[in-house]
Amino acid sequence: MGTARQWRVAAVMAILSLVAVLAVDRLATVAALSEGGARAEVTLRQTVNALEGHIRRFEALPELLARDDEVRDFFARPQDAAGIAAMNRWLKETNDLAGASDLYLIAPDGLTLAASNYDRADSFVGESFTYRPYFTEAMAGRTGRFFALGTTSGVRGYYFGSPVRDGAGRVTGVVALKIGVDDMEAAWRSAEYHIIVADPEGIAFMATEGDWLYRGLLPLTAERVARTEASRRYAETPLSELPLRRETDGGLELVSLPGGDGVVRNYLELRRAMPDAGWTVHVLLDTAPLRAQARLAVAATVLLLGVALSLGWALWQRRARLAERIALQEAAQVALERQVAERTADLTRANDELRRMQADLVQAGKLAALGRMSAALSHEINQPLAAARNYADSAALLIGRGDAARAVENLGQITSLIDRMATIARHLRSVARKPDEKLKVLALAPVVQDALQVAETRLQASGLAVRVDVPADLPAVLGGPVRLQQVVVNLLSNAADAMEGRAGDIELSARAEGGAVVLSVRDHGAGVAPAIADRIFDPFFTTKTVGSGLGLGLSISYNIMKDFGGDLRVANHPEGGAVFSAVLRVAEAGEMAAE
Ligand code: ADP
Repeated sequence: MGTARQWRVAAVMAILSLVAVLAVDRLATVAALSEGGARAEVTLRQTVNALEGHIRRFEALPELLARDDEVRDFFARPQDAAGIAAMNRWLKETNDLAGASDLYLIAPDGLTLAASNYDRADSFVGESFTYRPYFTEAMAGRTGRFFALGTTSGVRGYYFGSPVRDGAGRVTGVVALKIGVDDMEAAWRSAEYHIIVADPEGIAFMATEGDWLYRGLLPLTAERVARTEASRRYAETPLSELPLRRETDGGLELVSLPGGDGVVRNYLELRRAMPDAGWTVHVLLDTAPLRAQARLAVAATVLLLGVALSLGWALWQRRARLAERIALQEAAQVALERQVAERTADLTRANDELRRMQADLVQAGKLAALGRMSAALSHEINQPLAAARNYADSAALLIGRGDAARAVENLGQITSLIDRMATIARHLRSVARKPDEKLKVLALAPVVQDALQVAETRLQASGLAVRVDVPADLPAVLGGPVRLQQVVVNLLSNAADAMEGRAGDIELSARAEGGAVVLSVRDHGAGVAPAIADRIFDPFFTTKTVGSGLGLGLSISYNIMKDFGGDLRVANHPEGGAVFSAVLRVAEAGEMAAE
């Protein structure tokens, strides 16, 4: 697991996260703006309806009044002061009843003859309105409508003008009605939206933000300015353009413009034309809260993404660590296996070496045994041969001298020497014998008795007694009676040798131990030195002087016991003396039956 890979993954994740965040930002912004747009649409519809309703409420009034007899009479002939005063009062009453702003009558020359506001300082009476389109329209026989800032009152209003006709149908004057818009505008101010109503030249005349009034939403071209000035729509009010910047975002129209506090804000803009009035209503929705809402969604996404990425990263790291650990373990295992293989090879080599050494040792042991045997044999044979030769020589001399009796004596000596050599030869034969004798099921006690009898002479010569403890109820054992007897005699004879010149009895005992019967011969001699304990069973190993031992007794005995499937062991008694134990296998039921 390289760090480079981790960095690559991290970079990819970062880019993906960034793309995701940007996408969410985009989607959330568009969604919030669209949702805001839908709400603004409702507001726009309501605003337009309210404006149209407001105008329609008064629309019919000037036409009705134009047909009124008193109005027609008023224009039919010139009026005196009293007539004008009466008309003024009547207009004021009617205006108050209708709830309009002003109601007045204009003569065909444009001069205002009577007005509901006759008693006010800014009365229209005596004013000339020839420049107002609602007057010229009405004089032309049509109902005129116009929105303007009152030149006298300085109050904005919507004007209607209706022609008054005489019997012949000629236009004799104009009934003019002005309705205010201030209340409507004031009602909008509490809303969360900004509302602008612009005239056909794109100049705002109603706005929730006072600073926007009489300012152009469209470029203020020379024609627009000229047309506006001709109708004196906004009296002497200086006109200027609103510094707005438009853009579209996801099919939505956005506009940025400075508010009354001079701070530029971004708004979602919806507009609708009111063809009858020639107005355009604009609803502006501040996008800042919408964007904040979108940002909230983005923040939530970033948070979620962060959590998800952290979790993912942690999981990935864990997996990486796990993989690393497994790889390490595998490497360790491989190393271990290699080590084991190397050690095994080493061991095999060492083993081969050992086997070779063992073989060498065995070879050396064989040669040593052979050497010992040669030495023993050459002595055992040379000595009686030399003696026999001496006896033969003297026998010859004695015969020459005629001493036949002594010559016969010498010949007898030669015969006994030959017998001795024959005994040695017999011994050697038994070393080289083949263990072909079939095993029998034996009772131990009679074999021990026979052996004691054979050894009796030797034991008596040394003045030694044997304490025998062989229970009669011992289980039967496997072996050859003659050979087993030979072993016992041998052990007794060795014990006697070891006790030469010492006091005490030889102890012969037998015990059943598990599946075996152990026959022990204990003496009170010097015991077997540890240094030679593992060599005393070797053929031709002896500590006795040349001529008194061939070193074959224990070797032969050991092999006999092995042939019986048993064993011969040596130990030193804790209270002194050697203990030789012949281990015999107990005969099993099957073997008994076969007997
Ligand atoms: P040999 O008696 O001809 O030496 P063995 O094979 O019978 O041959 O004995 C080998 C050797 O074991 C003896 O030379 C002697 O050193 C030792 N040995 C045998 N029996 C005894 C014993 N009872 N006590 C001490 N040493 C013994």
